Amino acid sequence: MARHLNQRVLLGCALLCAAACACSELTRVSAAEEQTPSQNQATAPSLPVASDARLAGDAKLTRFILDLDKGIQFRAFVLDDPYRVVIDIPQVNFRLPSGSGTNGRGLVKAFRYGTVMPGGSRIVFDLTGPARVADATMLDGGNGQPPRLVLELEDVDRPTFLQALHAGRPQLKPAVSDQAAAVAPHAAPAKPATPPDPRPVVVIDPGHGGVDNGTRSGEEMEKNLVLAFGLALRDRLEKSGKYRVIMTRNDDTFIPLDDRVKVAHDQAAALFVSIHADYLPRGEGDAQGATIYTLSDKASDTEAERLAESENRADAIGGVDLREEPTEVADILIDLAQRETRTFSNRFARMLMGEMKGTVRMHKNPLKSAGFRVLKAPDVPSVLVELGYVSNKSDLEHLVSDRWRSKTVASMAQAIDAFLAKRLATAGTSR
Ligand code: ZN
Repeated sequence: MARHLNQRVLLGCALLCAAACACSELTRVSAAEEQTPSQNQATAPSLPVASDARLAGDAKLTRFILDLDKGIQFRAFVLDDPYRVVIDIPQVNFRLPSGSGTNGRGLVKAFRYGTVMPGGSRIVFDLTGPARVADATMLDGGNGQPPRLVLELEDVDRPTFLQALHAGRPQLKPAVSDQAAAVAPHAAPAKPATPPDPRPVVVIDPGHGGVDNGTRSGEEMEKNLVLAFGLALRDRLEKSGKYRVIMTRNDDTFIPLDDRVKVAHDQAAALFVSIHADYLPRGEGDAQGATIYTLSDKASDTEAERLAESENRADAIGGVDLREEPTEVADILIDLAQRETRTFSNRFARMLMGEMKGTVRMHKNPLKSAGFRVLKAPDVPSVLVELGYVSNKSDLEHLVSDRWRSKTVASMAQAIDAFLAKRLATAGTSR
C-alpha cells in the first residue's frame, strides 16, 4: 500500500493544483460552517447566497433542496468507497442554519459544504448505501419560493451504482466554474520574470479546510484552529526574512492531500510542516499535549495508526475521487530519495521536540510515526504536528489562546532556524 501511495505522489504532480491564493487575511469562521467572503472576493461580483438546505423523502427516494438567491450551474456525480454524492457549484456564500447537514434522512447520512477552490464550492453527501442521481434541477423562484437546487437520489443496487460511477467518471477538481480556474492557482510553480529567490522554502500546511472540518469540539473546528496557527507561524518566519514561506491554504478552502504534497515538491521546499489538532473520543481516556509525527510504513503504535487513518480520510470527506490508477514508476529511486529524506525528517522532528518541550506541554509519547499521506513527498523533509487534543479541556484552552499560540510558534520557529541553518551549512560545503 505504501509503495502504491508513493507512486501517487508523482501522479499527483500531473494534477492541477488549485489551492487558494490571494486572500491575505484570515477570516475567522465562526458559527457552523458559514462562509464569510474573504478579502480577495471583495472586488468580485457578489456571490450567490445559499440560505437554507433541507432533506425530504425516505430511504427509497431522498430529495435535497438548497435555497438560493439566484440560479447557479451545477454538476452532480457519485463516488464510492465510501458511497457519496458530490455537487460542484460555483463559489457560494453559505448562510445555512447552524447544524445544517449533521442530521441525515433517507439515503443521506449527513452532508457537508464549503469552498474547494477559488471560485468553486462543493456539497458532499455521505450515503447510507448505493444510490443514483435520479434528477437534478435548478428551479426558478416564484410564488413566494426562492430559486432552488433540487437533487433527487434513488436507492439502487450496487451493480447499477457502479454503472453510473463508471459512466461519469468525474475529474478530481470541480469543473463548474471555468472562470475560477483562471483565478491564480497559487500552488502552480511560478515562473518568475525576476531572478529566482534563493532563500529556502518552508511550506506550512494547515490541515483540512472547506468541506472538511477536521476534528471539532463544539464550535471550535480543527480547520480554523490550525489555519490561525499556520498563519501565525508564517508571519513569524517571514519576519526573519530568511525564508520564502508558502501556505498550502491561507483561507477556508479544501485542498486534496496530494496537492499539498505537490506544493512542497514543486517548490523544492527545504521543509514541510503540516499542522493539525487531534481528538480522542470519550471513553478512550483523556490524552493531552502536542505530538510530532514523521512518515513510516509501520505505525509506531496503535494510536498513531488510528490517527494516520483518520487524517488520510480527508480526501474522502472532501469528495475527491480516490480511484486513481496506479502508474509504473521507478519506485526504487523514490525509495532511495525517501530514505535520505526520512533521515532529515526525523532529525527535524527531534529538534522540534527539543525546542517545544521547554515551552509547550507535550504528549507523554511525543515522537511518533505512521503512514500519513501528506508526509509522502519523496524529496522534502516533512513532519506533521498535532498541536494538542480538542477533546481535552486545557489543550483546547491553549489552542484558542493567542498567548499559547505565539509562544508555540516561537519555539517552532527556533527549531526551523536551527534545522535549516545546519542544512544550509552542509549544502554550502558540498556545492
Ligand atoms: Zn487533522
